[in-house]
Amino acid sequence: MSTTKKIPPTIFVIFGGTGDLNARKLAPALYHLFLGGWLPEQFALIGTGRTELSDEEFRGRMLDGINEFSRTGKAAKSEWNKFSEHMVYQVADVKNAATYKEFGKRIAAYEQEWQVQANVIFYLAVAPEFFPIIASNLAKSNLADDTDRTRIVVEKPFGHDLDSSRELNRLLAEIFDECQIYRIDHYLGKETVQNIMAFRFANALLEPLWNRNYIEHVQISVTEQLGVGDRSGYYDGAGAMRDMIQNHLLQLLCLVAMEPPVNFNADEVRNRKVDVLRAMRRFSAEDVRESAVRGQYGPGWMEGQQVPGYREEAGANPQSNTETFAAVKFFVDNWRWQGVPFYVRTGKRMHRSASIIAIQFKDAPHYIFPPETAESWQQNRLIISIQPEMSIRLQVQAKRPGLDMMLNTVDMVFDYKGTYTNQAPEAYETLLLDTMLGDQTLFMRGDQVEAAWDLIMPILKSWEGRTSQSFPNYSADSWGPELAEALIARDGFHWFTLPLNGNK
Ligand code: NAP
Repeated sequence: MSTTKKIPPTIFVIFGGTGDLNARKLAPALYHLFLGGWLPEQFALIGTGRTELSDEEFRGRMLDGINEFSRTGKAAKSEWNKFSEHMVYQVADVKNAATYKEFGKRIAAYEQEWQVQANVIFYLAVAPEFFPIIASNLAKSNLADDTDRTRIVVEKPFGHDLDSSRELNRLLAEIFDECQIYRIDHYLGKETVQNIMAFRFANALLEPLWNRNYIEHVQISVTEQLGVGDRSGYYDGAGAMRDMIQNHLLQLLCLVAMEPPVNFNADEVRNRKVDVLRAMRRFSAEDVRESAVRGQYGPGWMEGQQVPGYREEAGANPQSNTETFAAVKFFVDNWRWQGVPFYVRTGKRMHRSASIIAIQFKDAPHYIFPPETAESWQQNRLIISIQPEMSIRLQVQAKRPGLDMMLNTVDMVFDYKGTYTNQAPEAYETLLLDTMLGDQTLFMRGDQVEAAWDLIMPILKSWEGRTSQSFPNYSADSWGPELAEALIARDGFHWFTLPLNGNK
């Protein structure tokens, strides 16, 4: 996030260099950092995996990833040729101690060639079961001893529950200093998500309204049209609560609810977010029934195509109890937010793909206009749209042009596309740049991860202890189970229809 610093000489080691994450996200992001002039001349990328590949074959895979997934389309040949010179491949089994000796030799060779001590980043784009073995092998081979110059990047899922996340944190803490550990929640790298902090803390006009006196409730929805597809092997052990709410949605909630940090220092920002998680009301078993809803999609039609239900997806368990939808009503028990419900929901195979935060303000205290003037009157609403539209809308009442006095809702819009001509970077570009610059503001600290697990454990335990008799309970192309509507309707509200570019 810092743009004034320069990246020092860096060696970037990708465990999982032959995997999907590298092709889909890391390769395009690094390529754009190269195109943007961010990468130093003394930059080396070492890809690893068990697959036997030559350097040339590895570069070919990186290029395939860029050509397929880059936000700017296919790579230009001349630029690609220059970028690819920085890459090599090392066949490596992460369980094999000799592997790490090889890394050590390569790193030393680069440093010798460059005549400088480089920063070394170990990116763990492998299944979580390998995190402990890689971490302890890095320690045994003394590759992570220098706390200033070596870093480790860990992908989600960060643990499966509170105990396993604590165990992983404990293990990493034996080897690394917290300042070396970069836990990725890619939502935090998204432009619109970063803008929540800019919007809240760079504008004086919002702060007086940003509390229980003026805000009635908050909704956070992250929905996707896609189903699980062939990922049910991974997904069945996770579910919407672990896969989305524990990390992405709670992080969004923290950004909305946090107190202003004293400055933009990584720990100051993260302290204020942890405060929110600690202030969130814990659930008893009874509360879980009242405040949390789970769903699983059945078969249906999406945009004219017949789609299978979750239990019929390739490789899926036909009796699966895993939720593909979750909605929860949270409260933040502090002075600012006492009594303000935060409704969050996420689901697969939903009617639309969208990520939005909607802040609903309270009614005007006194309505001076005759009732018939309010044709489509609504309370003020602030809508932060993260995707697909990147915008912030403030919905206010205005007089419609005409000789009579009629009111309706209009949007005051800040739209990225209309405001800026340059394309927004992908989240991974921001996050990889910050890793190389040593800025942890947008990364999860160990205590944040644990606090989020601690909060949702009663829900997970309750759901795992009760097989749902109603699954599947929502059809593809819907907004989830009816119980999710009831969850919010009980309080007199309704979920706002997505995408929210109208007034409904
Ligand atoms: P993947 O496509 O299955 O890739 C796994 C990688 O691990 C491959 O490069 C594989 O290389 C390597 N590997 C497996 N066993 C190994 C061993 N014993 N020694 C050395 N390398 C080994 O998985 P992925 O989708 O890239 O996901 C990787 C991690 O990122 C997972 O933790 C996942 O949850 C997380 N993640 C992925 C995405 C995504 O979009 N894909 C998004 C967010 C988070 P070889 O087969 O060549 O050994």
